[in-house]
Amino acid sequence: MPFLMGDQSNLLNCTPTDAAARLDAFMTARGVPAYRGAQVAHRLWKTPAPDFEAMLELPASLRAELAATFSIPRLPLVTQQSSADGTQKFLFRLRDGEGIETVAIPEGDRLTLCISSQAGCALQCAFCATGAMGFARNLEAWEIAAQVRELLLLDTPLRATNVVFMGMGEPLMNWGAVDVALTILNDPRGLGIGARHITVSTVGILPGIEALAARPEQFRLALSLHAPTDALRHSLMPINTKYPLAAVVAAAREFDRRVTFEYVLLGGVNDGPAQAVDLARLARECRAFVNLIPLHPGGSLGFTPSSRGATAAFMRTLRARGVTAALRKSRGLDISAACGQLRVERLGRRAPGSPEEHGQVHIA
Ligand code: SAH
Repeated sequence: MPFLMGDQSNLLNCTPTDAAARLDAFMTARGVPAYRGAQVAHRLWKTPAPDFEAMLELPASLRAELAATFSIPRLPLVTQQSSADGTQKFLFRLRDGEGIETVAIPEGDRLTLCISSQAGCALQCAFCATGAMGFARNLEAWEIAAQVRELLLLDTPLRATNVVFMGMGEPLMNWGAVDVALTILNDPRGLGIGARHITVSTVGILPGIEALAARPEQFRLALSLHAPTDALRHSLMPINTKYPLAAVVAAAREFDRRVTFEYVLLGGVNDGPAQAVDLARLARECRAFVNLIPLHPGGSLGFTPSSRGATAAFMRTLRARGVTAALRKSRGLDISAACGQLRVERLGRRAPGSPEEHGQVHIA
């Protein structure tokens, strides 16, 4: 059956509870025993099936009837790249031709997936490749969660232990879909990833932070701070006009679970000693953990990474003031794994929303 936007037949675009109820009603209406519904539900997320046809545990006639009523759409994989450090990057194409990126980062026995919540982004942070491409549209809940599902369907399946909303887009400007996607990711009948292993990263969209805080699960919040003063933050992140630093920091202080400050180190811009002192004060105020992020050079539009010396000094200043800080390792440097880079390289910086051709895609 053809896929429609907001398609009611799509069993992946709702919480596992809703999907189970719809399957239950379907089976009841046909006089089919209820356990058949549970079998199908199991194949949505837990042991994903590529389509109804592949659910060989069901009678063929039931599979055909399911396929005539429901859909379980795929995200077609356009390209997959592997970095020498084990990081893998995936570019998926959406039905309307948009492209979204997912990055898989192995570390010890963990596998962290960095997923996208929007095609493009409206926020235009000065150092970000996604911002440079502009905003196309919000992802639907299933398109967010299916990034995790698709990796389970690879020939060599990748099972995420952690998920971070640090791919393309601003998750808290797409709360309706992110809300449902969080449930799918966390629900034991969905992808079953512990809430403390799921991090929502935001520039500081206050209504979204409140909505996240109102959820009972222990989802983690990461705040993209990047500057310890309003003037500097404003020059790097236009959203600071709407949600200024003081308001964002206040929201972090009130958030009753662990908060991380993200801080991309931009050489000569935000990496000086005075800025480290200011950042330490804000972090202490919020009891926040500080994640220093080396600038990923690919998408960086005129900025340079901080020197090793400046980075080390910045870190020392934070620690000397009692702040817990870590320097994030830059991963996937050889595969353009920074936010938005692969999409820009492979599909071009076309105007959002216009149709595009498949061309120019090679598998690395
Ligand atoms: N919109 C959300 C989530 C997506 S970006 C947010 O801003 O938090 C995830 C993180 O990657 C953000 O902290 C973002 O500022 C950072 N980032 C963007 N471009 C980068 C680059 N070139 N190098 C390093 N980090 C980058």
